[in-house]
Amino acid sequence: MSHDIYLDANATSKVLPAAASAALEAMQACFGNPSSSHATGLRAKATLDDVRARARRVLGAPGGRVMFTSGATEGIQTAVLSALCAVRERRAAGLDAGDLLIYGATEHKAVSESLAHWNRLLDTNLTLCALPVDGAGRHRLDLLRELAPRAAMVCTMAANNETGVISDLDGIAAVLRERAPHAYWMVDCVQALGKLPLDLANSRIDYAPFSGHKLYAPKGVGMLYVKEGTPYTPLMIGGGQEAGQRSGTENMAGIAALGAVLAALEEGATFRSHAELAAMRARVAAALEEAFPGIVYNAPFELALPTTLNFAVPDMASKELLDLFDAAGVRVSAGSACSAAKAAPSYVLEAMGLPRWRTSGAVRLSFGPLATEDFIDEACARIRRCGQAARHPALAASRLSGDRRGLLQLSSEGRHGWVLFDLDANTCVAIDPPAGMAARLAAQVRDSGLRMLAVLGTGGDAAGMDARATLRAALGLDAGEQGTLGWPRDGGMVTLADGSAAPAIALGTEMLVRVADEDGSGAAYLLGRAAGGRLEAAAVRLAFTGGTVMADAEAQGLARLIDGGTVLCHGLDIGGAPCTTAEGLRKAGHTPGEARQLRPEGLDDFLRTHADALLVDVREACELEAGGIRLCGREAQALPLSRLAEHLGQLLAARRPLVFVCRSGNRSARAASCLQRLGHPQAWTLTGGVALAGAR
Ligand code: PLP
Repeated sequence: MSHDIYLDANATSKVLPAAASAALEAMQACFGNPSSSHATGLRAKATLDDVRARARRVLGAPGGRVMFTSGATEGIQTAVLSALCAVRERRAAGLDAGDLLIYGATEHKAVSESLAHWNRLLDTNLTLCALPVDGAGRHRLDLLRELAPRAAMVCTMAANNETGVISDLDGIAAVLRERAPHAYWMVDCVQALGKLPLDLANSRIDYAPFSGHKLYAPKGVGMLYVKEGTPYTPLMIGGGQEAGQRSGTENMAGIAALGAVLAALEEGATFRSHAELAAMRARVAAALEEAFPGIVYNAPFELALPTTLNFAVPDMASKELLDLFDAAGVRVSAGSACSAAKAAPSYVLEAMGLPRWRTSGAVRLSFGPLATEDFIDEACARIRRCGQAARHPALAASRLSGDRRGLLQLSSEGRHGWVLFDLDANTCVAIDPPAGMAARLAAQVRDSGLRMLAVLGTGGDAAGMDARATLRAALGLDAGEQGTLGWPRDGGMVTLADGSAAPAIALGTEMLVRVADEDGSGAAYLLGRAAGGRLEAAAVRLAFTGGTVMADAEAQGLARLIDGGTVLCHGLDIGGAPCTTAEGLRKAGHTPGEARQLRPEGLDDFLRTHADALLVDVREACELEAGGIRLCGREAQALPLSRLAEHLGQLLAARRPLVFVCRSGNRSARAASCLQRLGHPQAWTLTGGVALAGAR
């Protein structure tokens, strides 16, 4: 992949070249301390004054305080601390100060957490109250009207970082003027700078924090505006810098860089206009709609910043979309960057009342006002390529073995389902298909020209039955089955290793056999080649043990029907993995394995000293379509993590060193720990994945 298409500007942005030059100048030529009285210091002081004057012009704040901070989080702390100290003073003077700390339900966590933190620390004992938003993400002004008379402080962001939804600040100001004249009002303006007009001095706003790194200045610099006459308490005390408002020697490199960005904003030619950005968004949206039919936007364009698109695609988890985009070199995020490491659904979208599939499947794509037409062209081309890759059926033969029989793992919210397929016989069987994956699985089955013989369950729980019924309906299958678990009527029988007879259906040259538990409410399934009507234990290649009923092969008495090498496919992780071998389960029990870490800088050496080592790319089929992995002159072999169970026996038997790689090192660590736990002596994960190795 040639270069990154960075579409995560709401998380952070690269530094404007003029800002980088200004920072360098401030570090090398004009490196003085602005508090020093000699000429070197005076030059630094002149820069500081210059940038502040510029900031006042850009923010529309000729009066009031404008100070430099380390970023918006610090500005938010300072504003909250100031307001709460003022509340204490009002109370001490016997004045009404209100009893509520009202914040928009979609505020950045820096706001709600700061309110809770300082309220606790200062013992102000105010009640935190999240102001609901409507389905479009806008504050409920009707509720604000009701609550406002009790407000001590109100915090409502100017534009949301996840959805780009622009708040109705005039509407909020009107409510506060009428109903809460004494409440302090903070507006987090982080996503507004450079994208929305600002006229702070003529507004009702008391506190407005800003962050440099969201608009082409470096991380670690920001600004805080405080309205003239609004209470102020310094967060940091010491040498008295910033007129005693914020002590600590100024971050002159950051401030100088921010000054260059403010200069570009003032001069007006560097950044795109709202209309130009809206036209770019329309082009990106057209590419997305072509790539992902059925896409739904999580915020109305007419109420959002033109630089933010938040969307969900039916039947695709956000993690899956992120992996796909990343494989194509397109950097987007699921919700906010601060919560990217957590797989939780977006609280912002939840507050908007969106359904679960949209809150947990959301992707945020954001660009900055510096975007060029060429950049948007390339972004659209790659988005279209991602769409083509997403349609690539995962049921094709695995490139590791070229085997025409296959096993695909389908996972959703910690539960695993399985699809067995045979490309020669053109048939397949689904076991415990997860809810929400039916439509896509049905499309893949159709695209691959396969006939679904049965949609089976290992347990009779309602969610599982619903998911199976949805898949059957999506494939147009009738419910010609026995019982609730979906076993087909027209099967035969085989004899198992313990001499018992069990119902069986043919899948290619193998038999799939149903083993019911005692009361018939659950079942396990065995797959292997039967000879003379018997399926011997040693011939059982795969066993599907389900999520609850037959989770532990030993306990359920499957042990006498299968062999130590039989691969067990679970409905829930056991020992941190969705699959084990019967022997591995006996030895390792439920203890997770620990992946052996190979650092990117050691890969070259490792491959030189282990000529037989195999680089294994565990990214999914659609990611492979967007671009393969080549490291240290070697092409990685494709073995998607969802096909690991199918190749477990083969990988364990070969015993050659394995180096698993993926995008970030998470999935490769899971593959390596699964093999390590099953006794493979040399299963490694490439720490940090291609994200780090590729950068070297
Ligand atoms: N507020 C909003 C809306 C943000 O998007 C962010 C950054 O993610 C912050 C506050 C925190 O800003 P900083 O990183 O400058 O502390």
